[in-house]
Amino acid sequence: MSPTPIKKTANITSESDFLANISHEIRTPVNAICGISDLLNNFDLPPEKQKDLIEKLNISARQLKELINDILDFSKLEAGQLTLSKRTFDLFGVLKDVYNICIIKADEKNLKLDVPLTFEGSQQYIGDPTRLKQILLNLMSNAIKFTDEGSVKVSLEKLSDLDHNRVMLRINVEDTGIGIPEDQKEKIFDKFSQGSAGKGHGREGTGLGLTITKHLIEIMEGSISLNTKEDEGSSFIVDLPLEVDHQD
Ligand code: ADP
Repeated sequence: MSPTPIKKTANITSESDFLANISHEIRTPVNAICGISDLLNNFDLPPEKQKDLIEKLNISARQLKELINDILDFSKLEAGQLTLSKRTFDLFGVLKDVYNICIIKADEKNLKLDVPLTFEGSQQYIGDPTRLKQILLNLMSNAIKFTDEGSVKVSLEKLSDLDHNRVMLRINVEDTGIGIPEDQKEKIFDKFSQGSAGKGHGREGTGLGLTITKHLIEIMEGSISLNTKEDEGSSFIVDLPLEVDHQD
């Protein structure tokens, strides 16, 4: 009797792709950290060169930290252990923090970054500002990564009052980037999944960002949807119920 062939499902293929990809993603900053620290061991380096190398070392170390945080979040997500904290926060404080991180990359690529710093609704909410920041940071970093010309724009809208304490907010992250082909629109939220644009062309990534983002939005009882057109841009729309802190 001939042996039963092992079925190679799409999931297994993408999981092995993921492992190869993540190893590459980890190796890149680790190689940079090793190489730069070797160079810094040379005591004759002029101070400006030293400063430049330390900045590069810092960038690689941060990149590695973000990657490890994503992997840890993903394993928590898989184990059903991704939980939220609850405290009062200022929505514009969160937006300002995310803006300050994203503006560096946007400037490097000559992109306009438009983030609202005023809003008609309340500014004080009760929820998990760290996880909200992570959602915004993921969507905005992707928008910047996949846009070569034009702008990335964040807008806020209060859709409705859900009850006395909660409002439904809409956060839209819109870019004028490369867009996403129709047949990849659903898949990009799947674990390990990278669209055709995700590989190469200097647009590295792990394919975990949107999986974690979608999961976080869902445990916040919100939803995420996508409007996109190839070569014109994408718009990620997040509808999120937020508890208003009436003490402001
Ligand atoms: P990564 O960016 O690490 O590849 P993500 O889960 O964040 O992983 O995104 C999955 C894929 O979705 C990306 O590889 C890319 O193909 C696509 N994508 C995400 N955001 C955008 C965007 N704003 N514009 C175009 N493509 C995008």
